Amino acid sequence: MNWKDFQDAVAVLYERAEGMGTVTRDVRIRDKVTGQPRQLDVVVEIVSRGGHLLRVVIDAKFRKRRLDVKDVEEFIGLVQAVGAHKGVLAASSGWTRSAAQRAHHAEVDMVLVTVEQAQELLDESRWAQCPTCEGEWILLDHEVALHSPDDLFVVVLAGGCRRCSTSWIWCWDCGAEFNLRPGEMMTCDCGHVWLGERPVQVRLQGEQRFARLPITAEASSTG
Ligand SMILES: [Zn+2]
Ligand SMILES: [Zn+2]
Repeated sequence: MNWKDFQDAVAVLYERAEGMGTVTRDVRIRDKVTGQPRQLDVVVEIVSRGGHLLRVVIDAKFRKRRLDVKDVEEFIGLVQAVGAHKGVLAASSGWTRSAAQRAHHAEVDMVLVTVEQAQELLDESRWAQCPTCEGEWILLDHEVALHSPDDLFVVVLAGGCRRCSTSWIWCWDCGAEFNLRPGEMMTCDCGHVWLGERPVQVRLQGEQRFARLPITAEASSTG
């Protein structure tokens, strides 16, 4: 992964988030003070209920070290220079405590996006469209290895919709991809039985009991 991949991953995070308004990558906005164009990784424009346009700028920081106060102050300068209402710093390696304090006082949010998370965000096969909610994407961020007593080993990729309670399952053994709404049951080609519960449950082929998968298909804020 390089800084460009990281920048793309952060853009995907906002493009796929619910109700995020208009998301644009790699934008140039004129600096109010110098008149020079400034480069911004991601810009989100949201029209508020009162009809006001709110502009949020997001900067992706792909760093081996934590962000410090200087990084935050530089970014605050950028946010002000382009007349944004809010700034978000997405950091790959976190930040110092004083950096967080500085950000807090300047209406700047800090978001941690690890390299692993960034890789997931970039992987198209990790996304599924929710069959229930239009425009909602489900990130398959749960990779689960299931074991049964008779040495059955099953790898599953799964995730839950943030808005409704639909779960998305991808069984790697048979390649079946399917969604489960609450109360629904499904048998994949391997013969495993899947239950749409909170959390999702599965009874592996030849097993007697259902096991719970660590998948929460509950609506939650995306932050
Ligand atoms: Zn949904
Ligand atoms: Zn299967």
